[in-house]
This record gives sequence, structure tokens and C-alpha cells, in this order.
Amino acid sequence: MSFNNKLFINGEWVAPVKGGSFDTLDPATETAIAQVAAGTREDIDRAVQAARAAFDDGGWPELSGKARAGYLRRIASLIRDKQQMLAELEVRDNGKPLPEALWDIGDTAYCFNFYADLAEKLDEEREQGITLSDDRFSAVARKEPVGVCGAIIPWNFPMLMAAWKVAPALAAGCTVVLKPSEVTPLTALQLAEMAREAELPPGVLNVVTGFGTETGAPLTEHPDIDKLAFTGSVPTGRRIMQAAAADIKNVSLELGGKSAFIVFDDSDIEKAVEWILFGIFWNKGEVCSATSRVLVQRNLYQPLLARLVAETEKLTTGNGMHDGVLLGPLVNAAQYEKVQRAIAQGVEQGATLLTGGKRPPGHDKGYFLQPTIFTDMSEESDIWREEIFGPVVCLRPFDSEKEAVTSANRSRFGLAAAVMSADSERAERVARKLRAGIVWINCSQPTFTEAPWGGYKQSGIGRELGEWGLNNYLETKQITRYDSEEPWGWYLK
Ligand code: NAD
Repeated sequence: MSFNNKLFINGEWVAPVKGGSFDTLDPATETAIAQVAAGTREDIDRAVQAARAAFDDGGWPELSGKARAGYLRRIASLIRDKQQMLAELEVRDNGKPLPEALWDIGDTAYCFNFYADLAEKLDEEREQGITLSDDRFSAVARKEPVGVCGAIIPWNFPMLMAAWKVAPALAAGCTVVLKPSEVTPLTALQLAEMAREAELPPGVLNVVTGFGTETGAPLTEHPDIDKLAFTGSVPTGRRIMQAAAADIKNVSLELGGKSAFIVFDDSDIEKAVEWILFGIFWNKGEVCSATSRVLVQRNLYQPLLARLVAETEKLTTGNGMHDGVLLGPLVNAAQYEKVQRAIAQGVEQGATLLTGGKRPPGHDKGYFLQPTIFTDMSEESDIWREEIFGPVVCLRPFDSEKEAVTSANRSRFGLAAAVMSADSERAERVARKLRAGIVWINCSQPTFTEAPWGGYKQSGIGRELGEWGLNNYLETKQITRYDSEEPWGWYLK
């Protein structure tokens, strides 16, 4: 890549001030695929200044939504043109199977087009009249961009997570400094290059690669940042909120989860197996909304377990570039060790390991792990309560609807949940009782750009996607006017 070891600041590829760099690895082969610049506080400062200037003096927020939509559509079309290359890069950086990476890149382009439409709509809906109780006054509520945004994203859907923040922020009229994960920085750099090709004005989008403490933290502490948008783990989210508190920055957080899937005994067993498998094993379980806790009604429990184990053992694990692979390697050594520790702890705490839990035969290199199923754990055990973020699912039986709902809601997380039943009324009733930001009925995981995304409880603050995602990047201003010629009457009578 022509931009190896460079950062994208103010519309140009520049070397990091301190000259640092790091390797990004292919998790299937454990070999380096690219060298990437390690940004520091100095680079963040340059990027924030560029974004500030683009916002304050560059005219970006003053452009019509229609004009901004033009840039977003150009970026979307470049992403579409390069879909295969970008998907292959994602596979090599993250490990996910190619068909899933192709979905992600398709969704990324769609997200830019979707927010282009909303940017245009904003032209019509920017100001809304307000009826006041005193007819000597008139008022409007006006939507304005929040300002300069710091966006910090994780490694599980690298380019899509960038789009979920960059597209609505630019549509709203904000400028952005994006800090991708150090584990998967390559497609964010490609996004920067496409912004350049689309002739996005300098400073509107800046991409600074690097590590959490050295690059991410200075972004969260920078006084010229108006808003922080973060997706990642709860501990980092907590740090980001603390940093934002110093000068009361606007913050939105998309954090972890331990989502429950309630399966009633009137469900079709084959459909239940398919959605349970997809709900935990797609993207090798490295999914914030993965339904990693499955509650199955007692009558169906044993037959479903048998079918689940049989189908799980058929899933192909391997290099994401190879045909027929459904589970790629975990993203890096640290994540591999973390998931293996969680599995060992599950066994130590007395759970039954029904299948998986080991390196699949024939893979001496790469962070490969068999899809793993646990049963017989208590509700207090760590594998039932804590996010593992890997291909590990836990199942427990239940008797009554009330018990299932109580158990599903007994979590400090509240990102997603799913319910399956042939009784549509029951499924709808349960969906309304689940304390989670996303609830799926008769499925698990399908995600639509049009619908709000985000969590209850420790799974986050705010919503991305849809019109809610645009609102994340908008302030509301009231403009109130005194229309009367009469004195106000405080001292002039
Ligand atoms: P992470 O919190 O370790 O890192 C996320 C990002 O934060 C990275 O870019 C990292 O460099 C940066 N970072 C780390 N320390 C920082 C600091 N002190 N200040 C500023 N930035 C810092 O998370 P991860 O391991 O990359 O991702 C996995 C987590 O993300 C899981 O918990 C998962 O559930 C969550 N996630 C949530 C969603 C959602 O929509 N809710 C989506 C994807 C992932």
C-alpha cells in the first residue's frame, strides 16, 4: 500500500511525528501483513486541529445536506468498486470468512448511501417551528452538528464499525478523527484513501492508527473534541467516559454483551439449531450481540442439545480465505488466550464441556479454536455471566416463561436478546419484557442499517444506525424571537 506507515491528516498521508510503527498480523498464519504507523499525542493533536479547522472555517457544517450527500455517495461507490479487495483485506487482518467479509463491506457501502439520504432529508427537516404559550414570541428548534468527533472502534467488524460512526457524523456536518483498532487498522486506512479519492475537503475525516493508551487516550482527553463515539469493551468505555467527564464531552458508547436466546418448546428444532449456531458462531463469536447464553424450555432441552452438538461438530474451521470455512481464527494471540482461559475456568467451575474447546486437528499455526458448547453451569459461574467474545455458547434449561425472562434479564449487560416460539403472542410478550436494546424474534443477529442499535445497562449509552445514529451527531438549538413592538414591560411601562 502506498500509505504504509502513514497517517491521514488534513487530506494528506503524513508520517507520524515520532516515527513509530507496528506490524498487523494475519491470525490464520501468525505472519505480518503490513506495517502501520503508531500515532501519538502529537499526531492526535495535529489531526484534531485539522478537524477543528475544517469544522470552524472549512465550511463543512455550512454545506447543504445534499452537497455532503454527494461526498458520501462517492465514497459508497468507491467501496462497492473495491468490495472484493476490501473484503480480502478484512479476512487477512481479522480472520473472518470471506463471505462474511463481503457482507460487511456491502453493508459498509450501504451505510454511506443510507446516511447520504438522511443528509438530504436534513435539509428539509433542519428547522421545526414551535408553538409557544405567548404569541408575542415565535421559535424554531434547529438541528446543528455537534462539532469535532473522536471515533474509536474495535476489531471485530473493522470497516463496518468505522462506517457506523463516520457516515452519520459526516452526514450531520461533523468532522471526524477516527482511531481504528491497532489489531485491524487496514480497512480504515483504505477508507481514508477513498475519502481522498472522493475529494472530501481536507480535515473532514482524519485517520490516526495506533494503540489505546498512546493514541486513543489523547483523543479522549483533547479539549477541542466535542463528541466521543466509542465501540469496544466495558473497561475501556468506562475510561472514555471518565476522560470525557473532565470537560463534559458528549459521549456515546456501544459496549459488550452477554445476550440471551430463549427457545420455547413449541419451536421447530431445526430452525432453533440454525439460529443458535448462527447467533454464536458467525464471525467466530467475536460479536458484541452474540447470543452466548441459550435458555431452552425443558421438554426440548435434551433433543436440541443432541442436534446442536451434531451440527456444531460439522462446522468447518479454517483460513477465512478458503472455500466452505464457517469459522476463521480468533483475531490475535491475546484474544485466543483470553477465550482459552474462559474455557478452562468453565471446566474448573464444574460446567460440562459438551464439544469443542480445543485447537482443531490439522491447524498447528493460527489462532484456531473449535466451536464450543457448555452445559450444566450455574447462573453464578463466570462463563454464564461474563462476555467471552469467542465461539463459546452456554445452555441452560428452564420451565416457565417467567423464569426464562428473569434469567435472561439477570445480567449487567443489555445489548441484545432473542426469543423463539411458535406462539407469536408469547414471543411478542417476552420481547417486550426483555431488558435489551435489540430483541430478535425467531432469529438472532440480522442487523439493519435502518433500525436503532445500542444497549441497556452496561452495554452502552445512545443508539447508532437509522435516524437515531444521525441524532447522535446533532445538537438541538432553540431560536426564539420577540415579534411584538410593545415594550417588554420590566421597567418600561
Ligand atoms: P477495546 O475496548 O479493547 O478496544 C476498543 C478500541 O479502544 C480500540 O481502538 C483500542 O485501541 C481503544 N482503546 C483502548 N484503550 C483505550 C483508552 N484508554 N483510551 C482510548 N481508547 C482506547 O475493545 P476490543 O477488544 O477492540 O473490542 C471488543 C469489545 O468491543 C467487546 O467487549 C465487544 O462486545 C465490544 N463491541 C461492541 C459493539 C456494540 O455495538 N455494542 C460492537 C463491536 C464490539
